[in-house]
Amino acid sequence: MGPGPVVLILGGTAEARELAGRLAADGRLRWLTALAGRTRDPVLPPGKVRIGGFGGIDGLAAFLGQQGVTAVVDATHPFATRMTTQAIAATRALGLPYLRLERRAWRAEPGDRWHEVADIDAAVRLLPSVGRRVLAAVGRQTAAALPDVPGLFWLVRSIERPARLPANAAWLRARGPFTLAAERDLLVGHRIDAVLAKASGGEGARAKLLAARELGLPVVLLARPPVPPDVACVTTPAEAVAWLERLR
Ligand code: NAP
Repeated sequence: MGPGPVVLILGGTAEARELAGRLAADGRLRWLTALAGRTRDPVLPPGKVRIGGFGGIDGLAAFLGQQGVTAVVDATHPFATRMTTQAIAATRALGLPYLRLERRAWRAEPGDRWHEVADIDAAVRLLPSVGRRVLAAVGRQTAAALPDVPGLFWLVRSIERPARLPANAAWLRARGPFTLAAERDLLVGHRIDAVLAKASGGEGARAKLLAARELGLPVVLLARPPVPPDVACVTTPAEAVAWLERLR
């Protein structure tokens, strides 16, 4: 990409797009965004975009070298732990600055009926005791791992169709961000009595939790993987820009 600093943004989130937008407006740094390529028609950030995996830690390290990348901002989704682990390893191997940009976690407020569970198995064990008609808003890959649970109806919502659906499920194609009004209509319209979601954080994904609170519905939340230890970490794109400025 020529001389001077080049930032690699590991993307796939609204925060990654916002960061690219801020760098475009700022005009002082060069960047490119990498997307995994899970979504066929992704919402693209401004600037150069590269789509597809790197081929593990070694593949990423080779890419960083070839492109002359001088810093990596990992703005992948809080549940994209493999990419994060690999990005930390590759940047450590090359001695490059790494920043984790991870949105703040949600906090329960009065009226919320949240049940936080460690994984999908625990969620499925709990669900029949809290609801019968479940909105599963967990993303395509996790939805494909939902087991058949006698007596449960699943309304699975994702951007693209999961490779498989559990028995007694309907699939709804939709892409966030969602509004509170739309989420309330969805829950009422499908007579949903429980919500299964990832504890992702972020505003766009929050509306379903607010709608569940309004309707008094239980929410089973898959716990967020911990923020990786011993790495620089910020929660907003503005803080990521400030971190990049300090590197210059
Ligand atoms: P993952 O399990 O952490 O990563 C699996 C593999 O996908 C990685 O080893 C890497 O392949 C490739 N990859 C992941 N993110 C990439 C990126 N930004 N650019 C280039 N390659 C990437 O990730 P995931 O959970 O499948 O998520 C895939 C993407 O979807 C992420 O970018 C994430 O931000 C976004 N996303 C995930 C979720 C979720 O719930 N997991 C929700 C919303 C958005 P190689 O090993 O070949 O390099």
